[in-house]
Amino acid sequence: MRIVLLGAPGAGKGTQAKKLIDNYGIPQISTGDILRQNVADGTPLGKEAKSYMDRGELVTDRVVLGLVEDRLKKDDCKKGYILDGFPRNTAQAEALDKILASLGMSLTGALSVDVPKDDLMKRLTGRRTCKGCGQMYNIYFSLPKKEGVCDKCGGELFQRDDDKEETIRKRLDVYDAQTAPLIDYYKKKGILKSVMGIGNIDEIFKKVCTLLVR
Ligand code: AMP
Repeated sequence: MRIVLLGAPGAGKGTQAKKLIDNYGIPQISTGDILRQNVADGTPLGKEAKSYMDRGELVTDRVVLGLVEDRLKKDDCKKGYILDGFPRNTAQAEALDKILASLGMSLTGALSVDVPKDDLMKRLTGRRTCKGCGQMYNIYFSLPKKEGVCDKCGGELFQRDDDKEETIRKRLDVYDAQTAPLIDYYKKKGILKSVMGIGNIDEIFKKVCTLLVR
């Protein structure tokens, strides 16, 4: 399974990706996670990326493409992978096709997770992430047992800088303008599958599995 996950910020791509990893034993390649790690580590790349991320804008294609190409060359990608949050615009999608061709691979599917905009706002402003393991919670829908503490690993929960309201509006605008056109891009290639991303997470995951293994 070599797939791209599409969907607005807050659509639940990360959640479904984590379930796919557990179920199929393939790695998730999240450019957002890799960039955040670089910011946390204070690498030169992280320093370059941070100002874009804090504004809710896309980091330059050059930076992101380099990261993805390096990651796809790792051994664990031979059995498949889930690209989460990449590609984010048509130029990245075209570049990805070239990278994959050079590695003798192609995508087996592109999954679009669709969620109405009002729901997205609540999901994003309420989102809290574990510093330790990345597990996500929501102050409106899925509180941890103890406030501010991860149920899974006991790590501290925090609100990502780019989950603040103003940045969220910007991220959703950027999605509409730059990323949403990729739905058509993959539809034309005949590999697009769509799922409604509202309701029970496990029910959504069942539909996702049916769509992807068909
Ligand atoms: P995410 O966690 O995927 O929503 O990403 C958080 C932020 O990281 C985005 O708002 C962008 O600033 C940056 N980012 C993540 N993936 C990409 C990408 N493929 N291209 C450009 N910027 C990205």
